Amino acid sequence: MSRHVLVLNSGSSSIKFQLVAPEKDTSQPPYVSGLVERIGEDDGIVNLKFAGEKIEISEPIADHADGLSKAFALMDKHEVGPHSVEIAAVGHRVVHGGRLFSGPELINDEIIGMIRDLIPLAPLHNPANIVGIEEARKLLPDVPHVAVFDTGFFHTMPPAAALYPLNAEVASKFDIRRYGFHGTSHEFVSKQLPELLGRPAAEINQITLHLGNGASCAAIRGGQAVDTSMGLTPLAGLMMGTRTGDIDPGIIFHLYRNGMSIDEIDNLCNRQSGLKGVSGVNDFRVLQERMDAHDPDAWAAYQMYVHQLRRYIGSYMLILGRLDAITFTAGVGENHVGIRRDSMAELENFGIKIDEERNAQPNNGPRLISTDDSKVKVFVVPTNEELAIARYAMSFAH
Ligand code: ADP
Repeated sequence: MSRHVLVLNSGSSSIKFQLVAPEKDTSQPPYVSGLVERIGEDDGIVNLKFAGEKIEISEPIADHADGLSKAFALMDKHEVGPHSVEIAAVGHRVVHGGRLFSGPELINDEIIGMIRDLIPLAPLHNPANIVGIEEARKLLPDVPHVAVFDTGFFHTMPPAAALYPLNAEVASKFDIRRYGFHGTSHEFVSKQLPELLGRPAAEINQITLHLGNGASCAAIRGGQAVDTSMGLTPLAGLMMGTRTGDIDPGIIFHLYRNGMSIDEIDNLCNRQSGLKGVSGVNDFRVLQERMDAHDPDAWAAYQMYVHQLRRYIGSYMLILGRLDAITFTAGVGENHVGIRRDSMAELENFGIKIDEERNAQPNNGPRLISTDDSKVKVFVVPTNEELAIARYAMSFAH
């Protein structure tokens, strides 16, 4: 039987999990996947998906330990859990690796301490990641646990891209620099380009666009990230579902001086802005329905989104100097035909030409969407962060 990796993504009030067999045919869906939601509430939910089935239970979930053990019990009941297959390793998504981690790490007490030291940089995410790691180690004590950091891929960014023009003493005291996020996805997608282009990785200059609920882009030269749109936090860069992306930082002082608290501004910028703040909705499918119904706010949000995207694509073309490929990924990038068409429109002078028919094909794996004579090749490559984490974790298995 194939060896599996349990992949855990532990958030502040939810835990996403999958059992993946990274040595098997990875075009298949995971063996089992699920979600524990509303941890700490009376109406907690655990759901499971496996072999075309969907199971959901609702009961109070006291904390992460309780949530994880309920998820294990539900998997065991349906004989699809970590006790029914061979688990070779557990892979944990960890949001912030700061300057301490450039790649995946085998977890021990010292590594947990280092992830804890980074809590000031990710006060919402790293504590939840640590709880997930500690609980999973208790439930599966005999296999390697591996931390895979969202920031790791961006460790190679040169200082000119990574440092902010902030007072150097303050920047150093508070570890303020551009760390980047979604690194696992940018790396997973960019690593497929050598095969898609038939050229060695070292020769390829590319831009990857991860457009999901959160959104970021990366400039990658010869397999190494040289710039990215997210910064100290995942609030920077492109306009997102509910996040502003780049705004004049003076806006924050202005709102503060006009009576909003820091927590209110944080909530405004992270959860009440972006597509949702402009149009009322953050899901692109609903946004598209509103655009089809000629809602001017939906159109305004869409045009801002496209504008921001083009701004970044343009600047990364210059940073790379020569561009070989642009790749769209994640929920919006993989599925929204219009975003790909409009963000790439009228760029023939820059060697970019989309093939309308190829672009309109449904999402069915990695594919070319530019014309044969487009100098820069444009692709859609579905991301799979869980598989990437599982592969890393498996590399530490006995
Ligand atoms: P996350 O950032 O939460 O991992 P995803 O990468 O799954 O998110 O992207 C989620 C977003 O993708 C949704 O909010 C939705 O806007 C968009 N999306 C998903 N499916 C489609 C689709 N078929 N057409 C257009 N947009 C889609």
